[in-house]
Amino acid sequence: MKKIVVGFLILFLALSMVVLYNTFKNKPILGQNKVSLTALPTDAISHMGQAIQISTETPDDNYKYDSSTFYKYRQFIDQSYPTVKSTLPRTIIDSFNYIYEWKGTDTSLLPIVLMAHYDVVPVESSAVKLWHAKPYGGEVKEGYIWGRGALDDKASMIAILEATEQLLKTGYQPKQTILLCFGSDEESNGRGAIAMVNYFKSKKMKFDMVVDEGGEISTEDMKDVKHPIASIGVGEKGYVTLVLTAQKEGGHSSIPGKTSSIDLLSKAIYKLREKEMPAKIIPSIKAYLTRTSAYTDQFWKKMSLSNLWLFEKWVLNDMSEAPASNALIRTTIVPTVFNSGVRDNVIPTFATAYVNSRILPGETQQDVFNFVTKVINDTQIKVTYYPNYSTMPSPQTDINSSAFKRVEKAINSTIEDVVVAPVIMVGATDSRSYRDISDGVVNFSPLTNAKGYHGIDERLLITDLQKCIHFYTLLMKGEK
Ligand SMILES: [Zn+2]
Repeated sequence: MKKIVVGFLILFLALSMVVLYNTFKNKPILGQNKVSLTALPTDAISHMGQAIQISTETPDDNYKYDSSTFYKYRQFIDQSYPTVKSTLPRTIIDSFNYIYEWKGTDTSLLPIVLMAHYDVVPVESSAVKLWHAKPYGGEVKEGYIWGRGALDDKASMIAILEATEQLLKTGYQPKQTILLCFGSDEESNGRGAIAMVNYFKSKKMKFDMVVDEGGEISTEDMKDVKHPIASIGVGEKGYVTLVLTAQKEGGHSSIPGKTSSIDLLSKAIYKLREKEMPAKIIPSIKAYLTRTSAYTDQFWKKMSLSNLWLFEKWVLNDMSEAPASNALIRTTIVPTVFNSGVRDNVIPTFATAYVNSRILPGETQQDVFNFVTKVINDTQIKVTYYPNYSTMPSPQTDINSSAFKRVEKAINSTIEDVVVAPVIMVGATDSRSYRDISDGVVNFSPLTNAKGYHGIDERLLITDLQKCIHFYTLLMKGEK
């Protein structure tokens, strides 16, 4: 008996030693660094305002495409960036998608791509009165430039062009060829990006690095980390929508049966919302947790996140609590459309619902389908795939790749005392298409706690515009 107790004690001590060793070994990667940002180019703010004023609302199958706005936008960039226009050859793909090529001195190196899109989502007319500035005014006040597209994603496009214009004026020529790719339909179907990638494929081009919108800087994600956290997107979740259909003979609402199609479907949705697909920590999220936890001031949190081999279950439970962290650790499933009924006195025969799922790497559309069918477990509910759009989770960019390291280095020279960490993107961007021709696709732009995407009061901090220009300049100058 005594031997067993001693044995347990030794085991416990050994475990504690390993746990403490891992906890103290998990040190911040980078020390303090001072940053001095390059001054804003004289016209950068007014260019940003003008870009917003041209309402390049996204073309959509159901939305009237106003090509005159897109021509106007082209005219605006040609006039605002004369050196770019006169120096860099531009290829136009499918009317309004642009590729500018800046030839490098060493053409044996794979080129890099800096991407942005300049189409914007429409402003809801009923919400205009809630804005604190004109949605297409491009007004400058309270340290911000206001309007639709300020963040998503004209800031990136204008910053890339400002940085290029300035560098060209100094006579700079990059070592690696740089391609600037600007899309005109990211917010609708993303066909422009696909067409651009097909163009590159036809020329058998591959890229060392592709940088697109996505990851940003947050000082709010982890209250216990007293540093800004820069999240670099290294992959995207997959996407699938399933259609659930319940059919049950309807009729007059004055003599209802025990169950109706609406009842059946409601029950199915309820069951689905009660269960979640299993949680797990994929490598990029593990790296995110390890890196950020090195900076936390909460010892227990640091200990558990530095020892996921022991505390993974506990960490997963904790992360499941908040929607944002829950989306990083599992395939999510949520009903988004619910349809049934034609009149208040008719029991409908059919009820349908769409459930949208964002798929974690390692899982498939079929896994989602199987899970949904199993949980609902009702032969009266037909489950089918919604045919419009579906995609597998993307491959993940290695955090030891030159692309990740180059972006990391540029971030460290743009934001003081920043924690850089990889993250999986829960939404889709244009850069997804580039994964076929590059192992170095990363999503990042130095916007801080940005809010207002697709909503009211979209606005860009002027200091963020400065950071963006600084960041892209570093990426262009950062030699391989
Ligand atoms: Zn966007």
